[in-house]
Amino acid sequence: MSIFDGRQQDIAEKIDSDAVRSKWQDWQWQMRHSIRSIDRFESLLGVQLDADERSQLQKTLDTFPLSITPYYLSLINAEDYKNDPVFKQSFPSPSELIISEYDMADPLAEDTDSPVPGITHRYPDRVLFHVSNVCSMYCRHCTRKRKVGDMDRIPVRDEVSEGIAYIRAHPEVRDVLLSGGDPFMLTDEYLDWILTQIRSIPHVEVIRIGTRMPVVLPYRVTDNLVNMLKKHHPVWVNTHFNHPVEITTSSKEALRKLADAGIPLGNQSVLLAGVNDCPRIMKTLVQKLVHNRVRPYYLYQCDLSEGLSHFRTPVGKGIEIIESLIGHTSGFAVPTYVIDAPGGGGKIPVMPNYLISWSTNKVVLRNYEGVITTYKEPDSYEPVFCDRNCERCDLHLKVDSAEDEYRSVGIAELLANQDEVISLVPDSNERINRRTGGDGESDS
Ligand SMILES: *Cc1c(COP(=O)(O)O)cnc(C)c1O
Repeated sequence: MSIFDGRQQDIAEKIDSDAVRSKWQDWQWQMRHSIRSIDRFESLLGVQLDADERSQLQKTLDTFPLSITPYYLSLINAEDYKNDPVFKQSFPSPSELIISEYDMADPLAEDTDSPVPGITHRYPDRVLFHVSNVCSMYCRHCTRKRKVGDMDRIPVRDEVSEGIAYIRAHPEVRDVLLSGGDPFMLTDEYLDWILTQIRSIPHVEVIRIGTRMPVVLPYRVTDNLVNMLKKHHPVWVNTHFNHPVEITTSSKEALRKLADAGIPLGNQSVLLAGVNDCPRIMKTLVQKLVHNRVRPYYLYQCDLSEGLSHFRTPVGKGIEIIESLIGHTSGFAVPTYVIDAPGGGGKIPVMPNYLISWSTNKVVLRNYEGVITTYKEPDSYEPVFCDRNCERCDLHLKVDSAEDEYRSVGIAELLANQDEVISLVPDSNERINRRTGGDGESDS
């Protein structure tokens, strides 16, 4: 397939009678000609939807708008578009209007865990920073569907400055994750300004960018963009491929440019019913990704956002997929399967079980083939009582190069020797509340 294949040429000429390859590959041309109506979609793809289907769809669009780049549209197989994975990710479905009992507008509590507009500070050492609220293509499975196309929410420079000031004021933040929307929707100059500001903060070690551009608009990855990004290293980029058909000559070229600029690449897929809920599809996808220097990072269970019920699978489907990958293909091709906790608890990894049983000196394990084996544990391990006095410890941690203060949190705190906490108790525990007069104090 050439970069400008027959199907692309056909779509390009319908948009612009003197479309040439240079226009097709111009990301701004692609943006200007994004498909935003059902009529346009039908005429460019050469398909015709039923009349009653159309009226249903129009209702969906009034709630969740449509936008597809001509490039991404060109990946749809018009002959069987209803089952096409690109069609399903980009074209609305009346099922989006079904709100089921457990659906939420903001299931991950991103707005609640937000100290200043645009920042979600959920984990101890890193923040999510929404620098753009627009995308070149509206994924039908977007977890932030509530905000899509909401033009009032495009963060202005002042708001972004407030986010940067927050990071500057919080020395514990060593990792800043730019997201959106899609940060690559910003101009090179504006993104350069944001990156320069963040880089000037001494405690920020790593900057990450989450973008779907390599998938839906690979021409956005220009030489100018990568040359700008590499001035701000270490910069990591995570993208979002869900199906092997999305790995095309153009998307490979975008990934090559990013990787050649020294940017470590990761991929975050979402497990979607009717799109990629198949071990064979996922194995092909992860293998193609590593072939293009992209490390599969997360496989997400579909969130409980409103309008996504038709995309959700049982958790067992994800476990089945991971089971089909571990041992069967390169270890670094296996993503971590996660459920992002409703209510804002963060990502929780879920795995098949490999530890079958254990005693005081032996564990029983099984491998991917079903072989059951044992591992004999040491008889002589001297458990050391760790009081976190690292200065006195025989292990070689240079304390001045380690994080300033070590405090364990959560289950790690329960495991630590030096902490007095012996249990974590929900706020609403009536028994404990009676005992303490209602302040929920739990550890004494
Ligand atoms: C996913 C996420 C991060 C980053 O998590 P990692 O596991 O480090 O990739 C940070 N903040 C928020 C709010 C997130 O959802």
